[in-house]
Amino acid sequence: MAVREVRSYGDPVLRQKARPVTEVTAEIRALIADMVETMHHEIGVGLAAPQVGIALRLVVMDDGKGKARALVNPEITDRRGSAVAEEGCLSVPGIFAEVERSEWIRVEAADEDGKPVAIELRGFLARVVQHEMDHLDGVLFIDRLPPVARDRIKKRIQREGLPAEGSHRAFAL
Ligand code: ZN
Repeated sequence: MAVREVRSYGDPVLRQKARPVTEVTAEIRALIADMVETMHHEIGVGLAAPQVGIALRLVVMDDGKGKARALVNPEITDRRGSAVAEEGCLSVPGIFAEVERSEWIRVEAADEDGKPVAIELRGFLARVVQHEMDHLDGVLFIDRLPPVARDRIKKRIQREGLPAEGSHRAFAL
């Protein structure tokens, strides 16, 4: 296992539409293990493969009890309600903003053994998965902000760059 470099805002891989995983091979399992290690190293609670430079539809998340799980080719098959809460992103360090998400989601995916799974998530974990799944479509959380807030953040990044390493050790996805 190894910690991989987390790609930052401006890296084109973060804007790609990721490809489906065709088969959960040993290589994919190794990638999952690296992503889990990277997520824990960065004190994150979720990580999507494009964030480590791999444009595949694969996310890892902490299940809220300290256990990591992988979602391969995840699809949201149902959603209910809405909730607003602050988010950050390991790929957009130092930026935090309130984002509206569905409060409850049902997700179908394959697990790290390639077996189909269906899970229902609400609240924080539902938010984590929606944030990570956006990464698979090249969408960042700042894209979901009202235009005025989004433009202010983008201008700030253009003007000042992203904060240096070490300043993003907070809730981030
Ligand atoms: Zn993120």
